Amino acid sequence: MNETHLVLARKYRPQKFKEVIYQEIPINALQNALKHNRVGHAYIFFGPRGVGKTTIARILAKRLNCEAPEDNEPCNQCTSCVEITRGVSNDVIEIDAASNRGIDDIRGLRENVKFNAMGGRYRVYIIDEVHMLSIPAFNALLKTLEEPPPHVVFVLATTDFHKVPETILSRCQDFIFKKVPVLNLQSYIETLCKTENLKFDSEGLFWIAKKGDGSVRDTLSFMEQAVTFTDGNLTGAAVGKMIGYHGIDPHETLLKSILEESNANKLLEILERYFAEGIDLSRYLWDFLDFVHSSIMIKENSADKENLNFPKEDILKIQQLVSTYRTESLLLISERIYYIYEKLSMLRLRNSYEIKIFLEIQLRKLIHEINKPSLAGVLEKINHLNEMVKKDINHLPSHSPENSMEDKKSNHPGDVEGTLKDKFSGVEVENYPEIE
Ligand SMILES: [Zn+2]
Repeated sequence: MNETHLVLARKYRPQKFKEVIYQEIPINALQNALKHNRVGHAYIFFGPRGVGKTTIARILAKRLNCEAPEDNEPCNQCTSCVEITRGVSNDVIEIDAASNRGIDDIRGLRENVKFNAMGGRYRVYIIDEVHMLSIPAFNALLKTLEEPPPHVVFVLATTDFHKVPETILSRCQDFIFKKVPVLNLQSYIETLCKTENLKFDSEGLFWIAKKGDGSVRDTLSFMEQAVTFTDGNLTGAAVGKMIGYHGIDPHETLLKSILEESNANKLLEILERYFAEGIDLSRYLWDFLDFVHSSIMIKENSADKENLNFPKEDILKIQQLVSTYRTESLLLISERIYYIYEKLSMLRLRNSYEIKIFLEIQLRKLIHEINKPSLAGVLEKINHLNEMVKKDINHLPSHSPENSMEDKKSNHPGDVEGTLKDKFSGVEVENYPEIE
């Protein structure tokens, strides 16, 4: 357990190209350049945070100066490799442009660049968050990139490619780094769990990977919090509790109570219970919206299941649940819930009690709307009755013109208009989307 208190991201920082997950394209390109001795003097690594940009820059620096590279990887044993790993090498200079964005910082760098690295080695400058540099600093950097001294390699890393001036970009080879998909993150942390001897299940790891949002660093940092919170027991139940995931049962009940009017009271019970438990009702409404939206995607088979916010066990349950509901009804619910959420956000209600009341009113309205007869249904019934009335007319012996005016408002079986009006006097037909 204590072991994991070492920052996981640092402990498991890749020391070889092959240990970096999911960035094969830039890695292959770099390894090819290394193999053929065609390493450029300036690279720009672009991609989201925590996917391995500076890690790869350091591995590149190690590989360039390694005394005994193997299979195009640094040996991690020689003095140079060890110094770079420990962060004490004079051959690797790292600059965080977010906190050193001025011209003086880059001037200092230009002076430094003039000194050649010892013994024909490479000097690697890694400028992280390079888009943060000021314009004068970019100009100073540009001068250095225009006349690169031999054996100097610049690696500029950025999460915001478009903020880097074109003049700089045109002098760099650019490599794109990608977000790491949930499944890859999940299988990566599964290996770590085994090494660290942590208890886990696939749902627990799913939530950790999901929280990482494509970033290895964020995934590991969340995993560390989860280890502390769950006392090293990374199961779906424990991690779900940590992030406020209550499973799909409450969503299922709410959906049923909206679609089946007989269950409407359940809705009030759910809101009442969540209110009493102090659960953020506005967040719950958003989660429910996500559930309905995902249900539609699952029903229509249009979802990339990996991008859904539900573990695969729950996706199977949702599939079964929504198989009996019509897509149109689900679409209408998701649209209305979004509208309610939007309205709720704008109202800035003062407390959870007010939110509860607001939701009770809005959701009841929705139940009423969903379960009232639709225009299509009403027309169908009218046609049906029309047919019945026509049959009745055929059975009447005669129809005299004298009584037609006076009998307009009567319930005379021959008066088609009057009969239908009476039958449907309680039905309003408004401009609602059609549902049945
Ligand atoms: Zn080495």
